[in-house]
Amino acid sequence: MATQAFAAATPDTPFYRPQGRETEVFRHAHRNQLPVLIKGPTGCGKTRFVEHMAAELGRPLYTVACHDDLSAADLVGRHLIGDGATYWSDGPLTRAVREGGICYLDEVVEARKDTTVVLHPLSDDRRILPIDRTGETLQAPPEFMLVVSYNPGYQNLLKGMKTSTRQRFVGLRFNFPEPAAERDIVVTETGLDAERADQLVELANRMRRLEDHDIEEAASTRLVVHAATLIRDGFDPVAACENALVEPLSDDTETLDGLMEVVHAVL
Ligand code: ADP
Repeated sequence: MATQAFAAATPDTPFYRPQGRETEVFRHAHRNQLPVLIKGPTGCGKTRFVEHMAAELGRPLYTVACHDDLSAADLVGRHLIGDGATYWSDGPLTRAVREGGICYLDEVVEARKDTTVVLHPLSDDRRILPIDRTGETLQAPPEFMLVVSYNPGYQNLLKGMKTSTRQRFVGLRFNFPEPAAERDIVVTETGLDAERADQLVELANRMRRLEDHDIEEAASTRLVVHAATLIRDGFDPVAACENALVEPLSDDTETLDGLMEVVHAVL
């Protein structure tokens, strides 16, 4: 059986610094029972945004980190055996539908293709979840919302999102925040002083502009926050950048040396 990674969010509203009109779009989509698709690179705030919106709307959130072994049964549920008897156990999608919650499928294109069969009837105006194994068909309550995300950078021909699926969603495109916004995020998340935060943001932006075939993913806001956390904790700033911002980006020594030159130039 594939492992499931999902968790209900805490009742507090987590900090989220908007990049544009995404909070407004999300509220309208929720009110009008439309599913939302978020595109964007890793570590740019997609998950935080959904957590924030779920808390603001007062809906329980079920987050599923999709992987290539994740099947429809992982989302919907399955029969389990316990104490010599068989019982039905709802998956995160079914729970979200029953509770009128938000189900967030992170990196949805990674999931097995059979998941489309359950997502399609839920993401058009039928809003139903047929549970074949129990014979039940759930009608999603108005509060239920389906949110999916993927990183267009990872796309290949096999893993692209099918047009017939994509066109059911209201789409949001995320990118790394503008420098002033990213500085606010770093300061709020870590308590680092604004001047040092500005430096880290400047560094991240210079690293993002480097075109190196060995860097598959640009330095994300998550990595900037990690570096800031180490510095705030008293660690040496250059070493913090090396360990938190540079090393996670590549395994190629030449590339790493190039990135460290940028660190030395900015810090
Ligand atoms: P993604 O889901 O896009 O991979 P996350 O939402 O997990 O990225 O963001 C990674 C981290 O970056 C968060 O834990 C948070 O510290 C920070 N972050 C990024 N963007 C924002 C934002 N707009 N507001 C607040 N925090 C953010």
